[in-house]
Amino acid sequence: MSHDPNCIFCKIAAGEIPSRKVYEDEDVIAFHDIRPAAPVHLLIVPREHVPTLADATAAHQALLGKMLLLAPKLAQEHGATNGFRVVVNNGPDGGQEVYHLHVHVLGGPRPWKGMAI
Ligand code: AMP
Ligand code: ZN
Repeated sequence: MSHDPNCIFCKIAAGEIPSRKVYEDEDVIAFHDIRPAAPVHLLIVPREHVPTLADATAAHQALLGKMLLLAPKLAQEHGATNGFRVVVNNGPDGGQEVYHLHVHVLGGPRPWKGMAI
């Protein structure tokens, strides 16, 4: 499984830097976004270093499915009971800041901050 020693999400997945973890298994980790754009703002991150969705292949099909299926479960568990938004930013024009694939899960009562990711 690929790992980038300079990548912040690889470091979080490896426990090398702290996070407010809400879920983990052998494939993925989820934690609170450090700069929440909504009352509930979680990130679902694969342990494998896949930079963007455009780098994912058929080999990642089950992993991507797992990440998406986790979104409603974690949203519900963290109090986003009236709906939620799932966002994956990709590349410069997609507004991606961290080049390790991740799914934003945003929810909670509106209004949210700005464009909310
Ligand atoms: P994106 O623009 O989709 O790449 O989003 C990256 C997200 O990662 C932003 O919402 C950041 O607030 C969040 N982030 C960056 N560093 C950390 C960190 N150490 N712990 C938790 N979230 C982080
Ligand atoms: Zn990484």
